[in-house]
Amino acid sequence: MIHNLRNAQVELKQHHTVQWPTSPSSTYDDNELWLQQQDIASSDYPYIEPLIIASFQEWLGVISDFRKLHLGVLAVFDYQGKMIASNRSDSPEEPAAAWNEQVVQAVITTKEPTVAVYTQATIAVPILSRKGQEVFAVVAYQLPGHVYESSMLDLLSMAVLTLRNHFYRRFEHIFISDLMQLQNYSDREARKKTVFFNVVQRIHGKFDVDSVLSEVIESISFLYPSASMELYISSDHRSANEHVKPLILHNFTDDLCVRAFMEGRMIQETSSQESENEQVNIAVPLSGKQGVYGVLFISLEMHLLEDLDFQLITMLADTAGTAFENAKLYEQSNMLIRELRLINELTKQLNQSLRLSEVFDFALNELLHIFKAEYCSILQLDGEKSFFKVMSSNVDEISKQIYSTDYGFSGLVYATKEPLILLDYKMFSKVRSEFMEETDSRSLMAVPLVINNEVNGAILLSHRDANYFSYDNFKLFQVLSTHIGLAIANASLHAKVQRMANHDNLTGLYARHYLDDRVHQKQKIDFCGSLIVVDIDYFKQINDTYGHQIGDKILRQVCEIIRSSIRDSDIAARWGGEELAIYLPQLSKSQASRVAERIRSRVEIETNPGVTVSCGISEWNWDDDKISVELLFYKADMALYKSKNNGRNRITMD
Ligand code: GH3
Ligand code: MG
Ligand code: MG
Repeated sequence: MIHNLRNAQVELKQHHTVQWPTSPSSTYDDNELWLQQQDIASSDYPYIEPLIIASFQEWLGVISDFRKLHLGVLAVFDYQGKMIASNRSDSPEEPAAAWNEQVVQAVITTKEPTVAVYTQATIAVPILSRKGQEVFAVVAYQLPGHVYESSMLDLLSMAVLTLRNHFYRRFEHIFISDLMQLQNYSDREARKKTVFFNVVQRIHGKFDVDSVLSEVIESISFLYPSASMELYISSDHRSANEHVKPLILHNFTDDLCVRAFMEGRMIQETSSQESENEQVNIAVPLSGKQGVYGVLFISLEMHLLEDLDFQLITMLADTAGTAFENAKLYEQSNMLIRELRLINELTKQLNQSLRLSEVFDFALNELLHIFKAEYCSILQLDGEKSFFKVMSSNVDEISKQIYSTDYGFSGLVYATKEPLILLDYKMFSKVRSEFMEETDSRSLMAVPLVINNEVNGAILLSHRDANYFSYDNFKLFQVLSTHIGLAIANASLHAKVQRMANHDNLTGLYARHYLDDRVHQKQKIDFCGSLIVVDIDYFKQINDTYGHQIGDKILRQVCEIIRSSIRDSDIAARWGGEELAIYLPQLSKSQASRVAERIRSRVEIETNPGVTVSCGISEWNWDDDKISVELLFYKADMALYKSKNNGRNRITMD
């Protein structure tokens, strides 16, 4: 039952559910029957006065043809007996006393039509409710007593039935329009639910973050075309959608979006703009399971606020938050897989080469490619850790440059042992860098190459755009740098071991096996070459006289004389004991003898305690019958033997 018509309508406006009677069944006839049964309840009486008045006015028009009803005054009274309307529009407030109140009250009590005839006659007829048959109004007709006829009671009773119909038609009209409104409301709800369902389905169908965000924006624009909207995302995310913007948290604690983000709840505020249309701003956090990812900001004119369904918007924002989180996780796991593959690939490639220069160049190109950077430099600290040297760079101006350990960004990472990311060099005044200046770069990532907790190099990677590298880039760069650092360390170590293996420790000359290998190689590609074998004279005596330490010193002196008497392309080695050998590529033995003579005379003069050396020289030629390293050495050895026999401190050619 309708308990309170006015309230029911008010509630409907507020979109609350009204407890209506059970829904009508579907056929039209049934509906009509159902409507016929609708009735006002006694609690409605205080509110139906306007309906009665309107029906009464309408009814007066209908009964205008009944002359007998126009001899006096017609009035309608409410359920308490208060007059609420009459046909005397010139005296709407006819004094109640002029009416026979008792007659009206009697009708209310007895529910029966009543007549009282004195000088004035009063005919009063009740208007009864449908089911309860209660008096909710009374129609009274007052006329001079002498014109009263008894048939007038029946006439009025009939006419009042018509008035009752007029009333119920109006009542049903309200009822129907309320129903229609309810119907509209639930239709709209259903539409929203469908939209929401579709949106949720579409959002969850997206795996990439950008599509999720675009979907949210499109859906809300579709639902509320007149609202303007932005999506602020807190994490490091670049979007192609113009409505997706970064949420800047610092310095803006008063900002509506920042507050919604921090407090994790919807915040609404009315902007006090001077324009006549007041704006309402709403910020809804995009929350997922693990946190808040951003804020949906909606701005619309105040009068449109009624259409906005906050619950729906919150639900959309939450759905978007969860979807964003999922997409982000998916993206992250994909990125992790990609990164792992990349690291794996890079390390594999890096370890394929043990040549330091190759490692540097490979790492340089890979880093430029992976991070789509424009410039890169790899620097290494020298053995004494006194300066950085640019080992590889695509910036020609600084290749092979040397920098002190407190200069530039290599100096900074050397001092801190920490990687760094710089969003804009132009805004950073603490460090000057030739690398950044030469390239006009603004973005920079720099890492120290750390081995055994010691910095032994640095990598700089830059781009001319500001804010170019993401935090994810930076993390990956650090991981890759660790591997690059290891590869560089390995290659360095390898080079060191190789050097140790190829060199004689005491003299610094090459080792014998190295000389053998090189001569063997040369004999394959060259036309000719010579070999000088040098042996210190009476060295045993030197040892005996001065001791082995002095002997070693003299040996080193002789080796130094040899080293400074030959070309870079000549190969000097310690052949064994105090015997030394020099291979001179592309020289004949007569040319070699001049070198030997220089050595011989310099040893005689420069050594202290003084020693002399004897030399034997051999040569090979491409048209020799037999070419071999052994033969070459044998012949030189024979010549040396002759020098010894002929008095030493001399040179003999084979
Ligand atoms: P000569 O060659 O003139 O016939 O006389 P020598 O005394 O030099 O004889 P030989 O070449 O046979 O002797 C080699 C000596 O050189 C033996 C050893 O005491 C000395 N010797 C070899 N290697 C080293 C070394 O590394 N350091 C020192 N101090 N002495 C060495
Ligand atoms: Mg000797
Ligand atoms: Mg010897």
